Amino acid sequence: MVARYGEAQRLFIKAVREEITLKQERYFHQKDWRNITPYGGKYVGLNTPKKIDVDSFYVKPMAVWIPPLLIAGHIPSCPHCKKNTHVDVESARWVSFPKLLFGIKHHRYLDTKMYPCRACKCEFTGYNKQSLECDAKELVGYFNFYLATKYAVDDELYSFIVNSPDSSPARIAQHLQRISSDNYFNDYQYYLYAVRASKIKGTPSNVSRHDKRQPQIGAAIQQQIQREEQTQQQSAMARLKTQLWGEMRNLRFKLISIEASLDVSADGPARNKLDFRTLCEQKRSRNSRDLPLPSLGEGKLRKLISVGVHNAVELLDYEDINRVFYSPRTRDAKLYKWKAEAQECFDTKRRKRAELVEAIAAKKDELKQVDSWTLIEESIAPAVLEGEDDLSDVEAMQPRAPQPKPPTELELFSEMTCPTGYNARFMSTSQVNSILETEFRHRKPMQEAKMMGLSGEIFKMDWSYKIAGKTYVYSGPGVCFRPYTSVLNIQNGDGMTLV
Ligand SMILES: [Zn+2]
Repeated sequence: MVARYGEAQRLFIKAVREEITLKQERYFHQKDWRNITPYGGKYVGLNTPKKIDVDSFYVKPMAVWIPPLLIAGHIPSCPHCKKNTHVDVESARWVSFPKLLFGIKHHRYLDTKMYPCRACKCEFTGYNKQSLECDAKELVGYFNFYLATKYAVDDELYSFIVNSPDSSPARIAQHLQRISSDNYFNDYQYYLYAVRASKIKGTPSNVSRHDKRQPQIGAAIQQQIQREEQTQQQSAMARLKTQLWGEMRNLRFKLISIEASLDVSADGPARNKLDFRTLCEQKRSRNSRDLPLPSLGEGKLRKLISVGVHNAVELLDYEDINRVFYSPRTRDAKLYKWKAEAQECFDTKRRKRAELVEAIAAKKDELKQVDSWTLIEESIAPAVLEGEDDLSDVEAMQPRAPQPKPPTELELFSEMTCPTGYNARFMSTSQVNSILETEFRHRKPMQEAKMMGLSGEIFKMDWSYKIAGKTYVYSGPGVCFRPYTSVLNIQNGDGMTLV
């Protein structure tokens, strides 16, 4: 099943559903459930200060049928067991797509929820006919729509068709068409009036047709170029400062997380104390590596848990009174080793914290230095400008304005990955050669390994020889030859080279 409405309508339906979920029955205190109109379009006056979105003229109203919210204490009956005792109103969900509800002038969307019945293990819609029949006593006069399988008809249209018995169906259809065209004509004049009063919000021209938040590629590139120009205009000092601020922020986050993980108090999270049960699970998997407490295996951990030691903090305080881990040969050496390892775990964290504190202090000092440089620069700048450029008084008045680059300085090449730049840079021949050389050396073992891995019948053998370029061998004065190498290609049935 597909949605029979556009994007704007979908957003309106979503917004209404969300608001109803939030406000529950309060939503219907001041609204007509049979006709929930969207904001904007022809449902607002033209004297609004805001301009009206074009889409809102197209969006159709909704009728939302949720019996428990509309009638106090009402629970819809299940169509199978004809009772409402097992119907779970709380876990009802919205239907996938609302039904089309036709009226005389235009259609609406009839939305409802699916209610599960715990006894029958089935779901039924809020406007299920059998369910409505069971609750007829409570709902009489409330739900007046005529329901068909794929659409619904509202009470006005229903009585219009049913109460014209002396005219043929063709005449009724003609009549309805005329009403509809009148309605469209009125709407059309209203739209023209709205345009004349310049109350329509124009669609931006440089965005994608299907998604108005996505700019077109030309506009996007223009934006990026502008952004880059702005960053270029920022002084180097400012950039350095921003970078330092960013680094400091990252270090602070790390420090906070380390400090949080050092919280081994009774209320602290269990993972901080190195919970043995979790560690046991991790050690069971052979994929986990570099786990803490290397000398404690799965069995030892289980034994420790059985004597009431559940984490590393408890292990540090553990006294082996019953001599569970005592052995006559090593005495308590094992236990001490485990304790030392547990201590090491916490010590590593503490060391890391101390390092972070130092690093933050160092960054702070750097930032202070940058600040003092900036101050010096600012105090010098006006004097330099006055000396250099006597012609322009305006520039001297604004010492912080960006300086135009001297024309002798060449434009630099862009970054390799920059999408707006030219992605090029100069390289000497020797650099190119060395790149090719190392590239070949890196690729050779991999290619060989690949070829070794291939198996198959010999399908084709090729003998060839290759002359090594630019190489001459002198066997005597004036006697030289160019050496060559023989190459044997063996290919299998798939045309893959084996040797
Ligand atoms: Zn049932």
